[in-house]
Amino acid sequence: MRRPTFLFLLFASSLTAALAASQSASNNGAPQQRAAAATRAPSGIEVSSLDRGTNACTDFFQFACGGWMAANPMPADRQRWGRFNQLQEDNFAILRQILENPAGDADQRKASDYFAACMDEGTIEARGTEPLVAELRGIAALKTKDDLLPLVAHLHTLGVNALFRLGSRTDLRDATRQVANIDQGGLGMPDRDYYLKTDARSLEIKQKYAAHVQKMLGLISTADVPGSVWSASGQAVVALETQLAEAAMDRTARRDPAATDHMMQVGIWMELTPGLDWASYMMAAGTPRFDQINVAVPEYFKALGVILSLTPLDDLKAYLAWQLVNTSAEMLPKAYADADFDFFSRTLGGQQQQLPRWQRCVTQTDDQLGEALGKAYVEKAFGPAAKADTLKMVEGIKTAMNQDIQAAEWMSADTKRAAQAKLAAVVDRIGYPDKWRDYSTIRVTRDDALGNLERAIAFERARDLSKIGQPVDRSEWSMTPPTVNAYYSSARNNINFPAGILQTPFYRQGRDAAVNYGGAGAVVGHELTHGFDDQGRKFDASGNLKNWWTEADTKAYEQRSGCIADQYSQYVVAGDTNLNGKLTLGENTADNGGVRLALMAYLAGPGASKATAPPVMDGYTPEQRFFIGFAQIWCENRRPEFERLRATTDPHSSGKYRVNGVVSNMPEFQKAFNCKADAPMVRQNQCRVW
Ligand SMILES: [Zn+2]
Repeated sequence: MRRPTFLFLLFASSLTAALAASQSASNNGAPQQRAAAATRAPSGIEVSSLDRGTNACTDFFQFACGGWMAANPMPADRQRWGRFNQLQEDNFAILRQILENPAGDADQRKASDYFAACMDEGTIEARGTEPLVAELRGIAALKTKDDLLPLVAHLHTLGVNALFRLGSRTDLRDATRQVANIDQGGLGMPDRDYYLKTDARSLEIKQKYAAHVQKMLGLISTADVPGSVWSASGQAVVALETQLAEAAMDRTARRDPAATDHMMQVGIWMELTPGLDWASYMMAAGTPRFDQINVAVPEYFKALGVILSLTPLDDLKAYLAWQLVNTSAEMLPKAYADADFDFFSRTLGGQQQQLPRWQRCVTQTDDQLGEALGKAYVEKAFGPAAKADTLKMVEGIKTAMNQDIQAAEWMSADTKRAAQAKLAAVVDRIGYPDKWRDYSTIRVTRDDALGNLERAIAFERARDLSKIGQPVDRSEWSMTPPTVNAYYSSARNNINFPAGILQTPFYRQGRDAAVNYGGAGAVVGHELTHGFDDQGRKFDASGNLKNWWTEADTKAYEQRSGCIADQYSQYVVAGDTNLNGKLTLGENTADNGGVRLALMAYLAGPGASKATAPPVMDGYTPEQRFFIGFAQIWCENRRPEFERLRATTDPHSSGKYRVNGVVSNMPEFQKAFNCKADAPMVRQNQCRVW
């Protein structure tokens, strides 16, 4: 199971070097730097992570992170190695301790059993393909296409990514209720571009993918499955997925919520795809009754009907067998897990070695039973001081945003009022859910890793489907407590900060406030700004997709956000790949707004008094420490393969541009580091939305 992705996350993946400070002072473009005697107080910035040989006004990311990057070369078992990963590794060590010492309640013991079964490679090896045999036989037994959708419904219950997805979602136009939603899906590679691009590198990857599919189908052909004819069908599977990719809407177009807003009566939906027997799907899936459904991409389903009618039955069986084994690979014998690693991690991400098994099993347990594990994590790692401090920051940053909206010369009074009402309605949630998920109905045993995975997915699937037609439960979280991440939900109009991110380097109790505001404060500002980015601004205070902008204000907004899209499209990663400024627009808007709001809140709060903002610490002024604190959360090294993968799939820019893209738009930065007007970190055409 690959990790699910959520809307609006801060960072799409997963340390702690308390590095000994030894640094040589050299030119850093910081004339405000005071005498050495005044520099002893530790601020919380990581002085040893700096590269003082680089001028802050030339390349701030290199200045703030160059020491860290040199001291932290890429480990063989990583695609990216940064401060996020370091913190996640710390969190994982705590989780491992919890999982290996099952002293807690029933849920915690269940998580421990899940972890133990995942770790038991001997049993997994000894059982071989046996845990898959029943499902493979079901696929091989498919007699006609009339029976296809009930079989797909069953495979969806096991988490298999076959053809499309059907589940619940919040009604875009009535955020109080959940509705049925059906959407495109069914691709094995991470994006439709991998199937459709025709440059040499893309073609090579596609060919390696076909070989991988072929290999996995060859592995399962050793299972005792009468009538299976899929062992040589790699190319046929890729040909089918390519047709699905052609029909799918691309990632950038999907950023517009209206593009996937097609609520219709069930009868209309069925007329749209006359060849597909949805009634038999719903019966087999056990969906509740519903009259209306959102068909996210109608063109996809029209095409799907045609594609399925033209595809030979044996190719469909091979495709389903491939998607089944692809979902299960990590809980199957080593030959499967190794092949899976080889394509998805080595070829696509440049990773040279597998992560240690225990880390993969912690990830699995967190994915499937996250709140069972999260409860124990919070007890160990999250105190009331972190919560109280974060709340204070949130309050200050909301006040700053209110002032920022009020001062925006380009907005009319009416739109300002609506924006301020939306801001006032934002709910903040810090640490962990008030109400923990009840996993008591999932059966977990210590000798059935794949069965545990399938039952946990089936539990989540049933929970998701049961929401159709029900009111929204606003207490739910989309991330587990140990997650090093945060999110904004446009449908709930809330900002969410799991306990896992409210740790060093983002936040440390008692540390210089400038550094806490540059770290955790910038994260808070980022999530808050998402409510007003190119997607978020289209939802109102109650979470409904509803336009509250005047036409003139929309135009002014788009001109400003267009500046940011153009700016980031210029940035190149891996020496040959441009970022997609439209795909990353929401995140870049949130980064730019978030840092400015956090700085405003800092200067109006702890930064306003010498007692809480010493004029010099570690040789830097409060504003300089704020910016260094911000930049240092993004210190990272990345493999070129990973850079290219993310440029296609990730709505976030890479760390270097998350730092330099933001500071080069800020006169506040130019002033703090006394940069000359023509310095590289001072853009001539500075972009600003918020
Ligand atoms: Zn974000």
